Amino acid sequence: MIKLHDKYFRPYLTEQEILAAVKKVADQIAEDYKDETPVFIGVLNGSFMFVADLLKAYEHNCEVSFVRLSSYSGLSSTGIVETLIDVSDASIEGRSVIIIEDVIDTGRTLKQLVHMFSNSNVKDFKIATLFYKPSVYSGEYNIDYVGIEIPNKFIVGYGLDYNELGRNLKEVYQLNQNNMINLVLFGKPGAGKGTQANFLKEQYNLKHISTGDVFRFNIKNGTELGVLAKSFIDKGELVPDEVTINMLKEEVEKNPDASGFIFDGFPRTTAQAEALDNFLSTKDMKIDATIALDANDEVLIQRLLERGKVSGRSDDQDESKIRNRFDEYNQKTAPLQAYYDKQGKFHTVNGIGEIKDITTRLSKVIDTLK
Ligand code: AMP
Repeated sequence: MIKLHDKYFRPYLTEQEILAAVKKVADQIAEDYKDETPVFIGVLNGSFMFVADLLKAYEHNCEVSFVRLSSYSGLSSTGIVETLIDVSDASIEGRSVIIIEDVIDTGRTLKQLVHMFSNSNVKDFKIATLFYKPSVYSGEYNIDYVGIEIPNKFIVGYGLDYNELGRNLKEVYQLNQNNMINLVLFGKPGAGKGTQANFLKEQYNLKHISTGDVFRFNIKNGTELGVLAKSFIDKGELVPDEVTINMLKEEVEKNPDASGFIFDGFPRTTAQAEALDNFLSTKDMKIDATIALDANDEVLIQRLLERGKVSGRSDDQDESKIRNRFDEYNQKTAPLQAYYDKQGKFHTVNGIGEIKDITTRLSKVIDTLK
């Protein structure tokens, strides 16, 4: 993955694939024009690399010149086509002209070119393009030579840019539209999920959703959900799946612009994990990693009892409730390790040590995901 300005791009076409397409176009043109000396006219800036390689692959007499037009601004076609440099009429009069484009998408630029050359006194003209997006092309002109047909993706490299960057890449990259990171923080009560989530959310610009916190917020505000959840939480039991899953979905829906989520304390059952996967896939999202914070029960019990003194959480103050939460974890939550392992997404880090060292351990895992 590469980053240009604010966007990420992932590999799309290799140098080899591109050069094979260039050679194909050169051979087709040669077939038609080898007995005369055509004038290749590259459309700047995007076509410069294609023109260079095309001419190297064209083993017959030819001339070359350039025009400069522009219809792109940022990521989408603006529809504004300007002619900045013109080819002098004298140099192409009576000649066969082959216009060289890097990419043809809507066809607006092409229309302008066809208009320009139809009104000149060339012998004939043809259009060659390295990339062609048939799904968005709305022009009438039938393109004569096409290197590679591509879907409507935003691409950079091999002459094509994103706000002027990326033209020098040998390969072609496509915009990585799914550069979200969604993490599950996994571990027993007291493992440090909430503490670490607070650092990670800053570091990676993620939205932190703690189902325990949402329940406590509801309890504090005396909502219907709060009243329902309290009866389970007070005993150290899990709140029923249906209630928890719906609440989680709502929390995700509240953040349509998030660049990713940290799920803390969710999922805690296989049914929740399955519901989460199904829900995310409807939004073209997925869990990238589940990271477990590993610590032994005795350390955790001490941490929770200490936390209970300051947090006022009744479920942290009573060792029998804590033990019950561990039992719930062992029975219902621990099987999720196998669930995420099967998807190749399960990671474990040592959850004992300095808080910042543990954050570093987590970051190392997250950085391998990008
Ligand atoms: P936590 O703050 O994550 O330790 O959660 C406190 C309590 O909230 C748990 O002991 C459960 O009773 C309830 N809870 C939190 N998350 C879930 C969940 N995903 N499923 C069921 N109950 C939950």
